[in-house]
Amino acid sequence: MVSETPFLGAESRAALRRLAETLGLPRLQPGWVWLAGAGPGDPGLASLHTLAAIAEADVILVDALVNPKLLELKRPDAKVLASGKRGGRPSPKQETISRQLVQYARRGLRVLRLKGGDPFVFGRGGEEALALARAGIPFRVVPGVTAGIGGLAYAGIPVTHRDTNQAVTFITGSGANGLAPELDWDAIAKGSPTIVLYMARKHAGEIAAKLVAAGRSSSEPAAIVSNASLPNQAIQVTTLAKLGEAAAQADAPAVVVIGENVRLAQALDWLSAALSGKRLDPDPLGHDRLSNTG
Ligand code: SAH
Repeated sequence: MVSETPFLGAESRAALRRLAETLGLPRLQPGWVWLAGAGPGDPGLASLHTLAAIAEADVILVDALVNPKLLELKRPDAKVLASGKRGGRPSPKQETISRQLVQYARRGLRVLRLKGGDPFVFGRGGEEALALARAGIPFRVVPGVTAGIGGLAYAGIPVTHRDTNQAVTFITGSGANGLAPELDWDAIAKGSPTIVLYMARKHAGEIAAKLVAAGRSSSEPAAIVSNASLPNQAIQVTTLAKLGEAAAQADAPAVVVIGENVRLAQALDWLSAALSGKRLDPDPLGHDRLSNTG
C-alpha cells in the first residue's frame, strides 16, 4: 500500500500551484488525464509538471516503481490506485488500467497516471495514450528522466561520450513473451557502441553471449546499476563474459549498460565519491597517460 502523510499538505500544494502559475504552466483540468513520468527514484528528479499534477489530481494511478514519497504531495481526499505491473506478481491487466483512465476522466475527474522514469520508455505509456486517444479523452504527456539515461548519470556513466560512443541503443531485455527480444543482434553488436538494457537481469547473460558471438569482445566493460538514484543505489562493473552471473545477483530494478563509456565511472562516480569518499581516477580512458608517454 501507498503510505500517506497528510501533514505536508496544503502549504506544499499551494506553493506548487503558485510556482506553476508564476511559470505559466498548464493545470491538470477536470476530465483530463496526464501521463506523467516520476523519474527513476530520487523524488528530486520528478518535473514540476509532475509534482503540480500530484497536488492537483482527484485520482492517481501509480506504477510500482514510483517513489511513494512523491504521494505525500497529493490532496488528502485524492484516491490512489496501485496500478503497477511487476513481473511475476499479481498486477492489474494493462487493459484494466487503460479502461480506468477513460472511466475516471469521463466522470469529470482530474486523472494522473504516474509512471516510473519516462512514460514513453518501455513503460507502455504509448498504449495508455492510444486508449485515451481512441476514447476521445484529452490528455497531456509529461516526460520523465528515464532510468537508462538518468540512472546511468547517477552512476557516473555518461550515456554518450565523444571518445567512447557516438551512438547508443536502448533495448528491453524482456520481450512481450518474457523471453529475450528477437532482434538483429549482429547489427546491434556492429552498429551500436553502447547498449543499454532495461528489465534485463534474467536475460543479460544470453544477450551478452549473442553480442560476443556477433563479434563483441568478451572483456568489454559492462555495468549493472541497481536502484539508481535511490539511497540503496549499487553499481557492479563487470565484463560481457561475466555479465549474466553478475546480473543474476543484482538487486532489482536494474539497468545494464555495455560499452567503453562504462570506464568513465572510474572518474565520474560522483555519488560514491560524495557518500563513501571513494577515490576517483581522473583519467579513466588513459588519455593523459598516453600523451605523457608519447
Ligand atoms: N519507464 C521506465 C522504465 C520502465 S521498465 C523508465 O523510463 O525508466 C522497468 C525497468 O526500468 C526496470 O526493470 C529497470 O530496468 C529500469 N529501472 C527503473 N527504475 C530503475 C532504477 N531506479 N534503477 C535501475 N533501473 C531502473
